[in-house]
Amino acid sequence: MEGPPLAGRIRAEVAEEVRDLGRLRLVTVQVGDDPGSTIYLRRKHEAAEEAGIASDDRKLPEETSEQDLVSLVAELNGDDDVDGILVQLPLPEKIDEARVIRAIDPVKDVDGFHPFNAGQLYLGRPTLVPATPLGIMALLAEHRIRLEGVEAVVVGRSDIVGKPIAHLLLQANATVQICHSRTVDLPRHTLEADVLVVAVGSPEVVTQDMVKVGSTVVDVGINRTEEGLVGDVAPEAADIAAFITPVPGGVGPMTIAMLLRNTVKAARYRRGLLAFPGV
Ligand code: NAP
Repeated sequence: MEGPPLAGRIRAEVAEEVRDLGRLRLVTVQVGDDPGSTIYLRRKHEAAEEAGIASDDRKLPEETSEQDLVSLVAELNGDDDVDGILVQLPLPEKIDEARVIRAIDPVKDVDGFHPFNAGQLYLGRPTLVPATPLGIMALLAEHRIRLEGVEAVVVGRSDIVGKPIAHLLLQANATVQICHSRTVDLPRHTLEADVLVVAVGSPEVVTQDMVKVGSTVVDVGINRTEEGLVGDVAPEAADIAAFITPVPGGVGPMTIAMLLRNTVKAARYRRGLLAFPGV
């Protein structure tokens, strides 16, 4: 299940929607200069520009205080010209990420991390949903992977990937198990998975013998190693699975496409073209 063909189509659709909506603006905020974050942000800005979305990158020094960051977010909330706000994570340790995320206006929260949006997802009334899980669902739909009634196993329980994808799979009527670092006997669980989503951040945490024959495997992991970029799933798992996402070129491109889609959605909310549930 390659990401670029579908991601390209979604980006083209977004570009068309942007032409209809008029000017859209996405602002990203980066504190410090974590090299990984800089690469991700560059890709997000390139994709936004290509879709016709104006995008600004607010770069703040590593020593920025939590209060200054929250004040910047408040300023962006109040700026009528800004449709989407994305604060790139991770933030420096001395900054309370949860407080900064809470400061973002939920209607401009294109990452879908605000507790209001996370709560909507939990309640089965999704508003702005994190881009990576949305991208995974789009890939599964594109390949007509059956979800209703199947055993889905998610490895990883982060707020960014693991928990939201588990909720989306549950909404699609899969029977969902969530595994994590304290799970006893991980292979016992993964071997039951008709659909296995792995978001751990550890190379080959899922080996070939942990994958069910004929299953669908989504490898979210991005690990920089001496051999280059690798996922969380051993490449040999491709011989066992019916469908598998490559790394790179699987989920990553989908994340960017869905961020753009979220920006269009946020713009529709703000223009009253789509009803945003009361906060
Ligand atoms: P994270 O916040 O570090 O969460 C990792 C999760 O994996 C945690 O829930 C942790 O369990 C669990 N875990 C750690 N070791 C484990 C083990 N041995 N067995 C089972 N579970 C284990 O990471 P994340 O933000 O979700 O990201 C995960 C990976 O996806 C990273 O490689 C990241 O770079 C990548 N990613 C890719 C994209 C994309 O667009 N492709 C987007 C986001 C993230 P505990 O909760 O018990 O600690």
